[in-house]
Amino acid sequence: MRTYDPEYENKVREFNAGAGRKAYIRTYGCQQNVSDSEKIAALAENMGYELCDSPESASLVVFNTCAVRHSAEQKILGNVGQLHALKEKNPSMITVLCGCMTQQEHVVEDIKKRYSFIDIVIGTSAVHELPRLIFSRLTGGRKIRTLYDESGEIVEGIGNVRNEAFRAFVPIMYGCNNFCTYCIVPYVRGRERSRRSGDVLAEVKSLVASGCREVTLLGQNVNSYREPEKGTGFPQLLRDVAALEGDFKIRFMTSHPKDASDELIDVIASCDKLAKHIHLPVQSGSDRILKAMNRKYTRGDYLSLVKRARERIDGLCITSDMIVGFPGETEADFEDTLSLVDEIGYDSLFTFLYSIREGTPAAKMPDQVPRDVKQKRFDALLELQTRKGFERNAAMKGLEFTVLVDEVKGDAEGGVKLLSSRTDGNKIVEFAGPAELYGNYARVRITEPMSWLLKGELVD
Ligand code: SF4
Repeated sequence: MRTYDPEYENKVREFNAGAGRKAYIRTYGCQQNVSDSEKIAALAENMGYELCDSPESASLVVFNTCAVRHSAEQKILGNVGQLHALKEKNPSMITVLCGCMTQQEHVVEDIKKRYSFIDIVIGTSAVHELPRLIFSRLTGGRKIRTLYDESGEIVEGIGNVRNEAFRAFVPIMYGCNNFCTYCIVPYVRGRERSRRSGDVLAEVKSLVASGCREVTLLGQNVNSYREPEKGTGFPQLLRDVAALEGDFKIRFMTSHPKDASDELIDVIASCDKLAKHIHLPVQSGSDRILKAMNRKYTRGDYLSLVKRARERIDGLCITSDMIVGFPGETEADFEDTLSLVDEIGYDSLFTFLYSIREGTPAAKMPDQVPRDVKQKRFDALLELQTRKGFERNAAMKGLEFTVLVDEVKGDAEGGVKLLSSRTDGNKIVEFAGPAELYGNYARVRITEPMSWLLKGELVD
């Protein structure tokens, strides 16, 4: 663990290499990437760049990539290809690829061969090196084709340029040790490393002081957070964050069910600042498939965890992820998935078709499920969840909730706006109200529950 060297930072400012130039950063994938891009934006601004919304007007273009799905990778490579024409028009433009895709050797080889105009390719934990590399390139240095920080050391103090002032992602750890057989993350993000609780608390404190209403603590599996000096776990970190002064809510993701403890449930139940929502990715309802996925819990373990959580936390909303068509998944396995979803009644479910990821054990497993079978199962699951989601939401009709308004969607009748917001349980509520509510709490009554969102009215 080290702190981003302030002297180095000053030197970067002195270079002022980006002065009078614009930087464009495109982010693909998950919240972790969004958070990394916020750091890249801070580094670019420190160099004097002005952030902009299109690569056409930029002198620095950064693609922060995602490797979770093969289809996403192909789309990103297509977008990278489109940069070629821009680079030809403006040869001094610096192009950078970073993120999970660039941690894979075969992808980097492909980039070298097919996209030789790319100036800098760096790994996920070498982002803090960007100013040095950009400066070097601007002053005639060679192209950097692959730079990784093998140590994976956490570098504190880089800063963040966030798009929203009222809510923020705060990473608490990086990497993953779980090696689920379908997942590329441990190979591209490395082993688990946790931030010092003091650094996390200082960041949240400063966010709250500047008006932030909601922080989401981020990690691939927040339940394995270990304070590097004290050895304390995630529930203690939650208590410490909740003890900070201010009117704000705490969310977290993602929570591996095998590590979700009763202590965690108790903290959510007892701290008002903790949102009453837990995202517990189950991935399958079949014990056979869970074993093949290396998830390290059974269907029974999961059901018991959900039961304990619901018993202790009033109004808890539970959401999950499900993979359909994992190699070897039979109709009987899929029926187990359907029956689990039926039994639990998730508030929301994110369903994915299994996608082969080169380099993972599941990619080499026999009995890959044909695409049309996967799609049929996906449709059946979606239909079930649409019904279950509606049942959960219907029970909210007439009830009042405090929501955080996070989007102004357009005009509504009566000269006000259509606003979108989130409940404590992370459900979307749309209602008509003044645009000034954006970024603030409001009190709403649910008037029309639907499957995927709720319609409501402003109470005061
Ligand atoms: S817990 Fe499993 S699915 Fe989640 S990031 Fe780690 S390996 Fe991937």
